[in-house]
Amino acid sequence: MNLKDKIAEYPNFPKKGILFRDFSPILKDPSAMTVIADEFTKHFHPKNIDLFAGIESRGFILACILAARYNKGMVMIRKAGKLPGKTTKTSYTIEYGKDTIEIQKDIIKEGQRILICDDLLATGGTAKASAKLIEKVGGKIVGFAFIIELTELNGMKGISKYDCKSLVKY
Ligand code: IMP
Repeated sequence: MNLKDKIAEYPNFPKKGILFRDFSPILKDPSAMTVIADEFTKHFHPKNIDLFAGIESRGFILACILAARYNKGMVMIRKAGKLPGKTTKTSYTIEYGKDTIEIQKDIIKEGQRILICDDLLATGGTAKASAKLIEKVGGKIVGFAFIIELTELNGMKGISKYDCKSLVKY
C-alpha cells in the first residue's frame, strides 16, 4: 500500500496559500492504520518505550494507535487550559505570536521513556516545544513519530538529536 494515496490535499486551508495535508483517509481504512503501526514497529523497539505522548489533537490518534500496538500507555500534550489538576507548561513562538502547550504534572514518572507522536511535522516548532515539555517533567525522549513530514520546512533540524521517523515525505 502507498500511504501517500491515503493523504488528502486541501489548497487554501485553513487560510489562503496553505496546502493542508489531511490524514483522514488513513483513519477510515483499517488496513492503512495497520501499515502505519507496522512501519513504526520496524523502527522503534518496544523494549525501549514506556509511554507514547500525543500532541493535540491529531497526534492523540497516532499515539493511541501505537500505544495499542505496543501495549503501552499514552499521555496527552494539550493546548493550554484544557487539562485538569496541576500542569506544567511550555510556550513557543508561532507564525503570528505565541502558543502554549501543557501536560499533567505527575503523569510521567522521572526517567520514563517517551515516544512523542504527531500527524505532521512542518517547521518543527510544536515538536521542539513538546520535547522541552516532556523533559521538564522528567521524561526521557526516545524519539518522534510523524506520519507526514514537510521536508522543505526543515522541521527535523530542531529535533535532530532525537531518533525521528516520518512515513510520508513531501
Ligand atoms: P509545526 O510546529 O510548524 O511543525 O507544525 C506542526 C503542527 O501543525 C502539527 O501539530 C500539525 O498537526 C499541524 N499542521 C501543520 N500543517 C498541517 C497540515 O498541512 N496538515 C495537518 N496538520 C498540520
